[in-house]
Amino acid sequence: MTDLSDKIRSLLRPEVLALSAYHVPDSSGYVKLDAMENPYSWPDDMVDEWLARLSEAQPNRYPDPACSRLKTGLRNAYGVPEEAGLLIGNGSDEIIQIILMALKGRDATVLAPEPTFVMYRQIASCLGLKFVGAPLREADFSLDMTAMRTAIETHRPAVIFLAYPNNPTGNLFDPGDIEEILRMAPGLVVLDEAYTAYAGRSFMPRLPEFDRLLVMRTLSKLGLAGLRLGFLAGARAWVDEFDKIRLPYNINVLTQISAELAIEKRELFEAQVELILRDRRLLHEELSRLPEIQVYRSDANFILFRLLRHDPDRVFRALKDAGILIKNLHSSGGRLAGCLRVTVGVPEENRKFLGALAKALAA
Ligand SMILES: *Cc1c(COP(=O)(O)O)cnc(C)c1O
Repeated sequence: MTDLSDKIRSLLRPEVLALSAYHVPDSSGYVKLDAMENPYSWPDDMVDEWLARLSEAQPNRYPDPACSRLKTGLRNAYGVPEEAGLLIGNGSDEIIQIILMALKGRDATVLAPEPTFVMYRQIASCLGLKFVGAPLREADFSLDMTAMRTAIETHRPAVIFLAYPNNPTGNLFDPGDIEEILRMAPGLVVLDEAYTAYAGRSFMPRLPEFDRLLVMRTLSKLGLAGLRLGFLAGARAWVDEFDKIRLPYNINVLTQISAELAIEKRELFEAQVELILRDRRLLHEELSRLPEIQVYRSDANFILFRLLRHDPDRVFRALKDAGILIKNLHSSGGRLAGCLRVTVGVPEENRKFLGALAKALAA
């Protein structure tokens, strides 16, 4: 065994050895409010139509490597400007990886305000790139432009990631601040619009104004997390380069067919989003009524809250014992100390969560 571990150490990059694997807890049997999934299923007639289309798939053949039909659907549905190029990824996680794999030099720097989506740091570290996090403001997690300007000038980042709205904090950054970053950034700026359906704001229509802006989207948070489909829009000159790194058959035939159908039926998802927005408001109001909790504004399908007096690990465990799984961010430390994050579920799930939380806080 020691021989094997020596071999591993001698062959693998130190940054890989230093990583810890992305941990996903077992959620079976729980009310699952931890991962920003859309909790609604599809009506029976849509399931029938879906299965009928899937039955025509040819699993013995490779999928369309260009995803041509799917791309046309995405362009029309999401208002991708005609002059922009489109890259399709196996989830937007893969797109983050593709962008970072293309960067020149091991000393290239990736910048993002923090706390934010952990995969920017995770993937950059794994590729041996330098990652710099600039702190968000303590009070409301808005961009600290003094910190951002300093970080940009000091580190001259090759790529800046901005999640718009941000995860895990839930807020939208000020569009004026984003514009300033776009103008001063020496490299690419990736706006990660994973939650755009819940925010109603996007830089997609403004792509033609900025030739180093890339807008990234995913179908995951809209209601198709199981499919793994993300896309990136931006100047064709960039996208054509990234497309060379994409593995040719990264989107399997079942995902292509399913995503095409989902785009045709997008009114269903839009109706589900309306329900989630209604319940986000209710959940926010109810959370705000609980004692010694600070509830943050959300433009996404989840809510971040901070326990001002209670032990967050104990409250998280009490919820789990009551069969409810949310996300404990307390262990991330820093500005997330005391914080938990809950995804908006169906009304019954939200009620169960609120009941169990109130009980945990009273204990
Ligand atoms: C969930 C999430 C993603 C990942 O989306 P996938 O398409 O499922 O890989 C990307 N960015 C942010 C900010 C997210 O919260």
